[in-house]
Amino acid sequence: MATKLEYIWLDGYKPTQSLRSKTKIVKSFSGKVEDLDNWSFDGSSTEQAPGGSSDCILKPVFTVPDPQRKDAYLVMCEVLDSKGQPHESNGRAHIEDDDNDFWFGFEQEYFLWDPATNKPLGFPAGGYPGPQGPYYCSVGANNAFGREIVEEHLDACLEAGLNVEGINAEVAAGQWEFQIFAKGAKEAGDQIWVARYLLERIGEKYGVAVNWHCKPLGQLDWNGSGMHANFSNSLLRTANSEEKFKAVCEAFRPAVAECIAVYGADNDQRLTGKHETASIHDFSYGVSDRGASIRIPLYAVEHNWSGYLEDRRPNSAADPYKVAAVIIKTVKSAKI
Ligand code: ADP
Ligand code: MN
Ligand code: MN
Ligand code: MN
Repeated sequence: MATKLEYIWLDGYKPTQSLRSKTKIVKSFSGKVEDLDNWSFDGSSTEQAPGGSSDCILKPVFTVPDPQRKDAYLVMCEVLDSKGQPHESNGRAHIEDDDNDFWFGFEQEYFLWDPATNKPLGFPAGGYPGPQGPYYCSVGANNAFGREIVEEHLDACLEAGLNVEGINAEVAAGQWEFQIFAKGAKEAGDQIWVARYLLERIGEKYGVAVNWHCKPLGQLDWNGSGMHANFSNSLLRTANSEEKFKAVCEAFRPAVAECIAVYGADNDQRLTGKHETASIHDFSYGVSDRGASIRIPLYAVEHNWSGYLEDRRPNSAADPYKVAAVIIKTVKSAKI
């Protein structure tokens, strides 16, 4: 039976890459990613190649059934250059987690955005809604905006087999969050990107865009959007040691610049020290501290210093592949 394969990849735009995709029809497909062929695209239209030598290669790395199309799959791809080497825009290729020892739970925040008003859903065309307070985890038409889209997205993710762990309305009007967890850094990144893709595509149906920017309302008194990265490896999961936890946290201190470089564009606008963030200029960690760069969850302390850490600095527009890669590298550098 003819099957629709939606090959999805990240373009070469800087500082923030966007999703691109195109459909390939095949006669049949087993559902297994290793049975998929590489494909190519015009890299000169995506800032990934010069016009004179424009072919880039799509290498399928992750596939799930497409919940919105009949006889169809979504196919997340890495981009290779014309020689078959990872393209410079390909962050996934630099994740050093071949044994899937690293588990990641990303909390993806975003705004549902009305293209007509250029404001979040729930914002009147000419001004602002009431101040923050009633919107977080709210119910009711005065406070929760866009639930139909959010619910459809949740169902689509679950039907595709993505490991969504929860959703909630966030602190600003029109702002929402979903959480995805996976054992294996590459898979966690794949799942976040496919979930982002589904949200964008569902939004099309409603004429609603997704604003991934970390501070779309500027320096007004509205929260920005993050993508907290919760992470663990077997060391952290079985540490039984406050010293080991602190040694991992300390490994992040000299790596601040390297981390911030991939934690999403314009993060200086979001990491101000207000709105449950730490200043971009500081590095701190602490138990249960939502004003720290890295939070040690109470869970870890209650489990005799075993469990996971939460890096609160990555923002909503960050590439989860690059975030995971730098976290893994930094954890491995810890002096234990
Ligand atoms: P909060 O909003 O309080 O920061 P959430 O419940 O939104 O917390 O997110 C917590 C995240 O931590 C979830 O995505 C969960 O999957 C993740 N998590 C839990 N245990 C681990 C672990 N051992 N390793 C990595 N991530 C974990
Ligand atoms: Mn959360
Ligand atoms: Mn949140
Ligand atoms: Mn969090």
